[in-house]
Amino acid sequence: MLETLIFILIVALVVMRSKLAGHHKALRTVKNALEHRQPFLRHEHPGASGRDWDEFCTAANGLITEVSSLEKTQVSQLAQLEATLGSLKEAVLIVDGHNHIMLANKSLQEIFPEATDILEQRLEVVLHSVEFLNYVERVRAGGAEPRFEVEFVESNETRWVEVTGTTTLALDGGDGKWALFVLHDVTRQKALERVRQEFVANVSHELRTPLAVIKGYIETLVDDHETMDEKDRLNFLKTAQRHTERLNSLLDDLLTLSRLESASPGLKQESIELRPLIETVLEDFKSRPNAELHHLKFSIDETITTVVVDPLKISQVLNNLIENALKYTTAGSTIEISAHLQQTEIQIRVSDDGPGIPAVDLPHIFERFYRVEKGRSREKGGTGLGLSIVKHIVQLHGGQVSVESQPGQGACFVLSLPTGPSA
Ligand code: ADP
Repeated sequence: MLETLIFILIVALVVMRSKLAGHHKALRTVKNALEHRQPFLRHEHPGASGRDWDEFCTAANGLITEVSSLEKTQVSQLAQLEATLGSLKEAVLIVDGHNHIMLANKSLQEIFPEATDILEQRLEVVLHSVEFLNYVERVRAGGAEPRFEVEFVESNETRWVEVTGTTTLALDGGDGKWALFVLHDVTRQKALERVRQEFVANVSHELRTPLAVIKGYIETLVDDHETMDEKDRLNFLKTAQRHTERLNSLLDDLLTLSRLESASPGLKQESIELRPLIETVLEDFKSRPNAELHHLKFSIDETITTVVVDPLKISQVLNNLIENALKYTTAGSTIEISAHLQQTEIQIRVSDDGPGIPAVDLPHIFERFYRVEKGRSREKGGTGLGLSIVKHIVQLHGGQVSVESQPGQGACFVLSLPTGPSA
């Protein structure tokens, strides 16, 4: 009897063990299915059966199907968002609640070319600007922030970026708050604005000096006209006249420059013989007072016949260069003008044996209002715009201008002009 009881108990234990093992196996399958979002078949596990098991399988499978379809929708929405942002001209950057970069489009890389493989990286590792990080925090705290300009300095290069930011729902479906930023590179506009401000400041300064002199002399003439002797009055009037002429030249040069820099600089190119064009310019100089104090020399390759240029503008270039050579050299100096053919270019050189230009000034010599010796240039009636006009005209012709000089050994300006018309 006891033996029978023990036998029944052992059988019951074995059955329970195998059932338990079946349940373990079934649970593992459910866990796997959940992890891989893969519905499972309830009859795969004969160890687990019954109505409850059937109901559990149906509910779990339903849940798995729903979750995987939600995930698919989310992935396709993200892919769509990435594709849309990728085609935008504006740079877009999305960060999660811990400042990890979750999305960045191609335009962002154009602003920051060194920022590669930035997904999932922390913002501060990629973009080094405390100002920007503070802005990100303000956006996170307040929801949306007005447009803001940030300066990024990367390997000695400064970039100005206009940023607009707002918070957004987490795109991964989590409850965290993400932030979205639209960035616009305004470095070029900033540089242009600085050039414009400097130009306005320079022009005001250049106009103020002769105006102040004219004003002072005229005031004295008005106040003292009864007591002033004839000679002083004439001197005062002559000084006022000289400064009026300076103002006039300055305005003429400014107008010429602004026309050359405009969208329609009025280049009238025609096929013309180069020799007579240069000779006419030189003839005009020979009739000037004190011209005989300088030696003007001219040579041209016989092979050069016609050139396609705007004759008035090229005459102005030669005028400016020869006038400078006359202005900055002393009596007895030699000024040489020569024209040579160099492959597909014509090179015109205007050289003198005057004081030359120091090496530090050479890179700036074609900038507007740049002078080596301010006082000397003004005293000679210079505006500081002559070489800038030269550069613009030559570039309009598709050519280039450069200068070679050793202090004390004169200066040589070299114009390289294409033989055909500019595009
Ligand atoms: P400016 O009206 O002052 O002559 P430019 O633009 O023509 O202005 O020339 C700029 C500066 O370059 C001059 O102020 C002068 O210092 C220098 N320069 C130009 N040509 C010569 C030259 N042939 N020899 C020495 N210095 C020159």
